[in-house]
Amino acid sequence: MSQDFYSQDYKIGVLGGGQLGRMLFQASLDLDIHLYFIDPSPEAPCSRVSSHFMVGDLQDFDQVYQFGKDKKIVTIEIEHVNVEALKKLESEGVKVFPQPDLIALIQDKGLQKQFYAENGIPTAPFKFLKNKEDLLEQYDGKSWVQKLRKGGYDGQGVTVLRSEKDLKNAFDASSILEEMVDFETEISVIVAQNEQGEIKSFPVVDMEFSEEANLVEFLFSPAEIDSSIQKRAEEIATSVIKKLGLVGILAVEMFVTKSGDILVNEVAPRPHNSGHQTIEGNKISQYEQHLRAILNLPLGDTSIIKPSVMVNLLGEKGHQGKVFYEGLDETLKMPGVNVHIYGKEETKPYRKMGHITVLANKLEEAKKIARSSKELLKVKTK
Ligand code: ADP
Repeated sequence: MSQDFYSQDYKIGVLGGGQLGRMLFQASLDLDIHLYFIDPSPEAPCSRVSSHFMVGDLQDFDQVYQFGKDKKIVTIEIEHVNVEALKKLESEGVKVFPQPDLIALIQDKGLQKQFYAENGIPTAPFKFLKNKEDLLEQYDGKSWVQKLRKGGYDGQGVTVLRSEKDLKNAFDASSILEEMVDFETEISVIVAQNEQGEIKSFPVVDMEFSEEANLVEFLFSPAEIDSSIQKRAEEIATSVIKKLGLVGILAVEMFVTKSGDILVNEVAPRPHNSGHQTIEGNKISQYEQHLRAILNLPLGDTSIIKPSVMVNLLGEKGHQGKVFYEGLDETLKMPGVNVHIYGKEETKPYRKMGHITVLANKLEEAKKIARSSKELLKVKTK
């Protein structure tokens, strides 16, 4: 299993150079793993920290192929990438993890849902829609969630249809219509598998969403749910990665319904927002775990060191331009607070600019500090 991955010639390419790439980069240093990034934006968070950064279009066949050609392994930190180029690289002996076929499956919410249905993985009932006309024909006046099959991100490709009057917001595109789930809470399990089939999952976290931004606002680790539900969620996540045969890390987002059932919402085959707290809160971070998985190294101990709460730092409404972090000094004075600033020069409303992880002996205590630090630290312009 051991290999000379620490050699300068052992180049690992990462498609995407955003904050997830930047935290992967941080994790790569201790094991002397050499990451190379490509991102469409010259100002991407990785551009300032890595000397192996290039600008390129992740959707473009030639650019992705040329980038990957001299790499031992290619991985992703965003799933909207050119899969055909990755398939060609794979056929020429470059290891691509997660595997291109699986990226293609996950890029398409329709194929993803079909995979769950065919593999006995619990998920909300759904239908395929070709376009809006198709929706108008099928719509029964009940509550449904319409999701674009491709290209959605951070809630952008999702619209809730509660009645006829919401149809004006419907997408006119290839999509799925999913039954509205009356959920108690949204949870996530991050699970990793290396090439030789070792699998480890992180303990379950639960999330509180901001209605306005449609993004995670707070994340709690461990999740405040029944231990039997936790166990079942970890089993489901493990079975998803096993059935996919995916190498790397997989974030499995799930709903816990009011009656205690678990339904898989969607998966992301890369480090994920719901695993940021693992940097300080767990014995291994999701970032190092991903690197270990794609390098076929032994996976690390995922257990929790201390309860933690993660808060996303989103750009304030009404502020667009050069960023100013208001209240930073006061926030840094608070016990157990770890501030992460992603290095984006420009803020705009709801842009993910950083996060805070608060550790405490009790989750309740971490929650209190997290809620007050969110009030203190504001992402604004001057
Ligand atoms: P994205 O890929 O953009 O994150 P998701 O499919 O995760 O989109 O949906 C975004 C949010 O919308 C979810 O986190 C959840 O709060 C809500 N949502 C999605 N699907 C359903 C559903 N079937 N029932 C109820 N709420 C849903």
